[in-house]
Amino acid sequence: LPQPIRTALISVSDKSGLTDLAEGLARHGVRLLSTGGTAKALREAGHEVTDVSDVTGFPEMMDGRVKTLHPKVHGGLLALRDNADHLAAMETHGIGAIDLLVVNLYPFEATVAKNAPYDECVENIDIGGPAMIRAAAKNHAGVAVVVDTEDYAPLLAEMDANGGATTFGFRKTLALTAYGRTAAYDAAVSNWFAQALEEPAPRRRAVAGYLAQSLRYGENPHQEAAFYVDGSNRPGVATAYQLQGKALSYNNINDTDAAFELVAEFAPEAGPACAIIKHANPCGVATGATLAEAYSRAFDCDRTSAFGGIIALNQKLDGATAAKIAEIFTEVVIAPEADEEARAVFAAKKNLRLLVTGGLPDPRTAALTVRQVAGGLLMQGKDNGHVGAEELKVVTKRAPSPEELRDLLFAWRVAKHVKSNAVIYAKDSATVGVGAGQMSRVDSTRIAARKSQDMAEALGLSAPTTQGSVVASDAFFPFADGLITAAEAGATAIIQPGGSIRDEEVIAAADERGLAMVLTGMRHFRH
Ligand code: 5GP
Repeated sequence: LPQPIRTALISVSDKSGLTDLAEGLARHGVRLLSTGGTAKALREAGHEVTDVSDVTGFPEMMDGRVKTLHPKVHGGLLALRDNADHLAAMETHGIGAIDLLVVNLYPFEATVAKNAPYDECVENIDIGGPAMIRAAAKNHAGVAVVVDTEDYAPLLAEMDANGGATTFGFRKTLALTAYGRTAAYDAAVSNWFAQALEEPAPRRRAVAGYLAQSLRYGENPHQEAAFYVDGSNRPGVATAYQLQGKALSYNNINDTDAAFELVAEFAPEAGPACAIIKHANPCGVATGATLAEAYSRAFDCDRTSAFGGIIALNQKLDGATAAKIAEIFTEVVIAPEADEEARAVFAAKKNLRLLVTGGLPDPRTAALTVRQVAGGLLMQGKDNGHVGAEELKVVTKRAPSPEELRDLLFAWRVAKHVKSNAVIYAKDSATVGVGAGQMSRVDSTRIAARKSQDMAEALGLSAPTTQGSVVASDAFFPFADGLITAAEAGATAIIQPGGSIRDEEVIAAADERGLAMVLTGMRHFRH
């Protein structure tokens, strides 16, 4: 049976759409109760309002920490309308029914996002709001609860269609949204504590986010999808500002994240760097004297795959780089900033999505990653591992030259962002071959070399680009075959974790071929 709305309690931090809502409710003769700021806004707009403090007989106190936490409010929200005992209790204690609750919470997530001081974040943890939302949603048999300004219009449409009442189905949907909101809110608070404490322990974390964007579809057109953000202020695709282009798709978001996380390995102070991503794997990563050069060198690793790719840059996008990028079809470009000239170049490419983030995330910060498995979630600390030159162990007769060492460390950083089994050939701080996602390491080694040979042919070079390159392997070589393949392709130095029972065999094969090999003692599986 549709439930009529006679009394509404409105308590909102975000006051947008408030007067339209009040006007709509006034048309149906709804009596309004409100907390301080909301009541003031409503009165200023000419609406008649009763203060909640008049209902409870208590003033709002303790900086607003206690406003609505009172049996006259919670009784009015929780009483079952068809239960004689509940009705008698209302009668005895002078509690009036509240049929509609409209609340949006203190902006905790936004406060954290703007890097507010600790105490300000604490003060923005809403207590009475979630309590009322949960009470009203529990009592959806009789009460409608709205927690999102987007639901004002549908609520009024529902009331118009039902003579000022709401249907059970509608109230159930509102209850679903309501509990989703309070769950996400508390998760944001928990995550904030985790961040403040630098507490990466997966077992202590709540997982949730709030809806940032409904997506047209998921990985494939027959899959529904949505994008949630977790309220942390980490620079990246979730917090980026989109300057132009179509809405991001599910795959765009996934690949843009991979691209930006990879390019963030290269600190802007150390010079320009560019990563081009396809299907979450890099098809080219390079540094350069200029950003445009970094892009060109990344592009030259695998021009075929770069078509329709996602490009991430570690410095402010300039006009020259934008002009080069604009020569082929690209889905997304993400950078800390973009100058006027670059924006003007891309303005002609209506579909190209340009995102700016304001900064780069620190790849060494502790964080969590979450993945779903059937019936559960897998959580782990993010792979923020880093190996410096001083931690490498030379195991071959020949030690790497300074140039080889530079390229080994470059390739190793890239390897961390390539799906296993990952094998990366690099030269002059640019990838020249990427072998990703193969089930055998030797196949990854072959594929990367093969791609490099194809590219050398396409570019009309006399020798394959793997000649004189170095190779990074994300995990140890279980047999010597992968290393031998790399040597035959022209590699002169290898970086890998080591730790195989056949390490001796692999080292001997390297020595036989005059290769230099260093062990990291750290693995970078990525599945
Ligand atoms: P107003 O702007 O009307 O003064 O305050 C509205 C905000 O107060 C809403 O975001 C609502 O969730 C929150 N709120 C309502 N009751 C309480 C309460 O008892 N304690 C706290 N901490 N917040 C409340």
